[in-house]
Amino acid sequence: MPISFYEGRQQILDIVPTLEIENVPLLDAAGRAVAEDITSKQSLPDFDNSAMDGYAVFTADCATGTVLPVIGYLPAGEISADIAKSGTAVKIMTGAPVPQGADAIIPLENCKEDQGKITILQTVKKGDHIRWTGEDIRPGDLVIPAGTLLRPAEISLIASLRQATVPVHRRVRVAILATGDELQEIDELSFKGGIVNSNSLALAAAIQEIGATPLILGIARDNLPDLREKIKAGLQADALITSAGVSSGDRDLVREVLEEFGVKEVFWKLKIKPGHPTAFAMHNNTPVFALPGNPVSTLLTFEEFVRPALLKMMGHHSVLKTLYRATLTDPIKKKKGRLQILRVSVNINPDGEMLVSSAGDQNTGILRTLINAQGIALLAAERDFFAAGEKIDIHLLGATTTLGY
Ligand code: AMP
Ligand code: MG
Repeated sequence: MPISFYEGRQQILDIVPTLEIENVPLLDAAGRAVAEDITSKQSLPDFDNSAMDGYAVFTADCATGTVLPVIGYLPAGEISADIAKSGTAVKIMTGAPVPQGADAIIPLENCKEDQGKITILQTVKKGDHIRWTGEDIRPGDLVIPAGTLLRPAEISLIASLRQATVPVHRRVRVAILATGDELQEIDELSFKGGIVNSNSLALAAAIQEIGATPLILGIARDNLPDLREKIKAGLQADALITSAGVSSGDRDLVREVLEEFGVKEVFWKLKIKPGHPTAFAMHNNTPVFALPGNPVSTLLTFEEFVRPALLKMMGHHSVLKTLYRATLTDPIKKKKGRLQILRVSVNINPDGEMLVSSAGDQNTGILRTLINAQGIALLAAERDFFAAGEKIDIHLLGATTTLGY
């Protein structure tokens, strides 16, 4: 019995395992999820330092018009030992430790230096332009919780804490198996009726985009011996994705071979369109996703079901994309009974409102509609009509989609 979109996705997320933890150099962790809480052992900054190029002073000395002798110079990186004295100023560069006792920095542009003396031109307040110890991070602060995606900002923070390696979950090695007698590889001489195996490359790109590692196994022909050999190889990976060979026109050879290997079926078919023949099974700890072969269906089912699963395996806590409320600009009709994964164009109007409409012909044969789409709307199975002006939930496609005005 086919199950719903949401039941299917939940069953996948409940079952897929999280991979082991490894320690990797910081740069290799970028774009992955940190596996353990990062707690700071130190303050940031870890010494009071100047936020400006200027003069370190004692505010008590700084009535407007006062003239102070400049008795020292502190470039960034230099220790400031005991050279500040009340009634004097020390020239200091951004990032240099504030000399002990000084309690404000006067920026260069706010005073006049002449013959080793500065004249105070403006009021100076205690703490002006000083970055105090611990004002950003204090020892013991939980700075990055486990499961957080490491963006450049997180890398910056971890580097500032002098942590050169980070625990992350292993990258999932995902085997990709295309099936079909009509398929040929991109660099093979074309034959009449041949279809390029674009799915393996498309899936590999989608897998790379989330920091996982694709293993392209090539094409299995629609016969048992070939499928057996290649599925056996695929089951050695952390996850296996097959494409095609599962729709009603086929003899369900993929399913037959998976059963031979003792793969436990979780669901076979979903009440969705496109993607009805999507199946999910487990072989010990290895998830197996049998996706439909149509390139549009393959990518949409990857996006909605496989992507979140692989992210969970790699320890991400946020595995589903953010949903935005968007206004539908044109009516949409659909059949009741299946949730529709609708490819939508997304724009922002001058008021900042998100507007969506169908990105084009929703036939699964039309790849161009996916190219023209910036987002996906999930249209409820039990409905058959959505009116213009209605608010619907959408999520964006891809990691770097930008929206037009
Ligand atoms: P099937 O699921 O075997 O009925 O395939 C559905 C459609 O997707 C057919 O037109 C296939 O030729 C096409 N197709 C299947 N596998 C691939 C693939 N790996 N790359 C591109 N198109 C494919
Ligand atoms: Mg086929």
